[in-house]
Order: sequence, then C-alpha cells, then structure tokens
Amino acid sequence: MDNLVRGWEIVIGLEVHAQVLTKSKLFSSSPTNFGADPNSQVSFYDAAMPGMLPVLNEQAIDQAIKSGFGIKGTINRISRFDRKNYFYPDLPSGYQISQFYHPIVSNGKIEIDLKDGSKKLINIERIHLEQDAGKSIHDLSPEFSYIDLNRSGVPLMEIVSKPDMRSSYEAIQYVKKLRMILRYIGASDCNMEQGNLRVDANISIRKPGDKFGNRVEIKNINSLKFLGQALEYEIERQIIAIESGEKIIQETRLFDSNCGETRSMRSKEDAADYRYFPDPDLKPVILSQERIEQIKNNMPELPDEKKQRFIKEYSIPESDAIVLIEDKTTANYFEKAVKSSKFESIKSAKLIANWIIVELFAILNKDGKTIDEIDFPIEYIAELVDLIIDKTISGKIAKIVFSKMADTCEHPTKIVKDLGLVQIQDESVIKKVVEEIIAKHPDQVAQYKAGKDQLFGFFVGQSMKALQGKGNPEIVNKILMDILNQSL
Ligand code: ADP
Ligand code: MG
Repeated sequence: MDNLVRGWEIVIGLEVHAQVLTKSKLFSSSPTNFGADPNSQVSFYDAAMPGMLPVLNEQAIDQAIKSGFGIKGTINRISRFDRKNYFYPDLPSGYQISQFYHPIVSNGKIEIDLKDGSKKLINIERIHLEQDAGKSIHDLSPEFSYIDLNRSGVPLMEIVSKPDMRSSYEAIQYVKKLRMILRYIGASDCNMEQGNLRVDANISIRKPGDKFGNRVEIKNINSLKFLGQALEYEIERQIIAIESGEKIIQETRLFDSNCGETRSMRSKEDAADYRYFPDPDLKPVILSQERIEQIKNNMPELPDEKKQRFIKEYSIPESDAIVLIEDKTTANYFEKAVKSSKFESIKSAKLIANWIIVELFAILNKDGKTIDEIDFPIEYIAELVDLIIDKTISGKIAKIVFSKMADTCEHPTKIVKDLGLVQIQDESVIKKVVEEIIAKHPDQVAQYKAGKDQLFGFFVGQSMKALQGKGNPEIVNKILMDILNQSL
C-alpha cells in the first residue's frame, strides 16, 4: 500500500451532482439556460403554486440512460420518484423530488489513470435523477434576502461512488474521468464554474485492514482545486484528531476556500428526517427494452475506447493518447489533421500529435483560448508536418513557420516560400559553406583533432548559422564528419 499517510489509509467516496443537459426542467417546460435574469425561467409549477402538476421530461430520462451506459452501469427498467421533505426558503414546495429507493441506474464503474501509469477501477453505486433547488441571495441588500428560482426544478443527476478512492489524487482523477464521459455523451456540460457540476466528498481514515471509520461529508465543492484542498485539509485534521485521542463524529462540513479549511455545519444527530415517500403525482418510470436498446446502439465512442483506438490505429504512445482524448474537440481535430496529411498516418500521426500537444497547446495557453477558438484550420498542422516529413524544412525551421502561421493564419507552404525557408539539401552548396567555416577556424580544427570532441557542435552551429538555419542537419553533420575526420 503506497497511499498511506503516516500509516493511515484514506477512504473517499464522492457524490457528484451534474446538471442534465436538457432544454427544459425535469417536470416543467421552463428553460434551463445559464445566466438568465433572476426569476425569468420559472413556471407556476417551479414556484409550487397550488394545483400545479409535474410532467416528466423524457429527454432527462434518455440522458440518464446514456450516462448509465457511459459508466457501464445497469439500467433499471423500473425507477421511481420520491419526495424528500425539508423546509428551506429556496424550496417553495417544501420537498425535493428525487429517486431515493429506486434509482434509474445501478452499479457502474470508471477506470482512472494513476500516477505510476497503472489503472484502477472505481465502482459507482447508482445514478439517480432529482430536481435542483432555487438560490438564496444574501448580498444584494443589508435587510433582505432574495430568492432566484431559475434553478428550481432543473434536472440533476446524482452519481454516487463506492468508497473506493484512497487519495485526493484518485478523487480528482475520478471526477475528471466522470466529467469527460458525461461531456463525450452530451449528458452534461459539467461546467464547474457555472455550478453544473458539484461534488460532495465523503472521507474517513482507518488503519489498513480495520473496518471503515466514521466519515465526514464536505458539501458542495465547485472546483477540482478546492476538492483537492478540502480533502488534504480533512486528511490532516482527521489524523491529528484521532492520534490525539479524539473520535471523528459523522458530520457535514463546509469548505471555506478563503482560508482553505473545512468547518462543521451539522452533525449526524441533527440530520433532517426527510420522510421520503413516493410522489403521488408521478407514475413509476417504466422503460421498454426497445428504448434502452435504441439508446445503447446509438452511444458515441467513449473516451477509453477512443484512447485504445488511437493507440492502435495511429501507433501513438498512450501518454499522447491520454492528452488528445481529454476533450472530444481535440480528439476530433487530431483525427482530422491526420486524415488530411498526404502521408500515411503511421508516418504523420506521431508528429501531428506532438505539434498539437506541445506547440498548439502552448499558444492556446498563452492566449487563454480553447482549441475550437484557434484561428487557422487544423489541417495547417498536417501541412506543416508534411513539409517536415518530405524534408522541405527541418523541425527547427518548422517552429518559426508555426509561430508565423499562428500569427497570420497563412498556409505553411506559403510562409516557407515567402520567407525563403526551404531546407538546403544540395550537398555541394552545404559542402562549400562547411569548408569555409573550417578554413576560418584553424585553431578549433587543431583542438578538435587533438581530441576535443565537443568542438564538433561548434562547427555544426557555425555552419548552420552560415546557412541561415536552413541546412539539412543530417547532411551538415555528415559533411562535417567527413572533412574533420579525414586526416585524423
Ligand atoms: P448516505 O445515504 O447516508 O448518504 P451512503 O451510503 O449513500 O450514505 O454514502 C454516501 C457516500 O459516502 C458514498 O459516496 C459512499 O461511497 C461514501 N462513504 C460511505 N461510507 C464511507 C466511509 N466510511 N468513508 C468515506 N466515504 C464513505
Ligand atoms: Mg447519500
């Protein structure tokens, strides 16, 4: 066990709330768009006016089924909605509708990549559908609190993992992978800044082999950075507490990102009694085998499958494949570029992957852009790589062409022509330059011949400089070797 912290095993289970990507709410036709004016997307049903009845949004059901396949789970033919009763100003009906007893998906799993390159399966207990609540706003007025019900009734999926993670790193990898899968299948945008992916983290510690310790639940974490910080803080707090003889009580805590600490919110003793019961206004959700099969047959390629295919089809290393499949657009761009290269993918794919991962990502980072915001067509990267493969330019010159291309969005071929960057392949031209360099530096030649081998680099540098960087490096090396070693 290499994950122990001072002899303690860390046990983590996550409850992830992802907003289901649908046009309208779970039980009403109000829109779900982010950023609309407060209370502009609220129907009578969302405001819990008397007599309003829910109408189930079938698109949300389909999205949950897709997500179920995405995590290799079991889709339950029968699921059911229950009322979870509690009183809070942003919950006008006094209950949240959720699938407590019979979730739509059970028993999934997600594979995560560990630091040492190995893989680990994290089991998932269930995915259930539920409504989001409204939002209380306390900072607009010194006297009043305001309520925005736009989120009231927005469909959420709660994805509950087993307590299978053993470090904050694994927890972060799990959320990243889950997010990737949900985005790939279009079931959720998983945008943490917009609050459409939120994490409740459960954490306990134990000595290896002991039974699970009491867990603490940290509510509503809205960034991966905060997830890491909250878990690390809690690991330290729990170890120190137990080692000094205290007991960890089961409680709910909040993470304060300003000071990087967690604080107690409520203990299990004051846990609400939710009085769950089946919602009498909603029938059980009964799925036909055909509907489930149809969704299954139309599932898009998932990230792990894409990764395997990239490795096999394009012979790229796994480390490259992992980066390329991280988001679907990058993966699609990569494939588009490989297809547009005039060389076979076995020749071009590795180089194209490299240029995307190193050079393209660097300029995107610098400009704070995402890949779908690049100004030049992705095929230009293939064109640039083709120029390297057919030896029109060297890899070094290609960097100059690339940065010019990123600035001007011109074809790499045109840039090479306009700037006169075509590689010099003509041996006689190179030989002439090399001979001049050697003639100019008799002292260095003598030292080299006396055994100072590192001076070879000096001659390469001087020759390349004289050739304005355009000499074919292999030919320059070969000619220098020939001449310098002639009379050794
Ligand atoms: P509840 O219904 O009280 O919320 P669950 O059994 O559904 O409890 O667990 C909620 C989450 O807590 C799950 O993600 C689960 O993996 C995690 N969990 C359960 N026990 C522990 C534990 N001892 N330590 C850490 N996480 C745990
Ligand atoms: Mg729970």
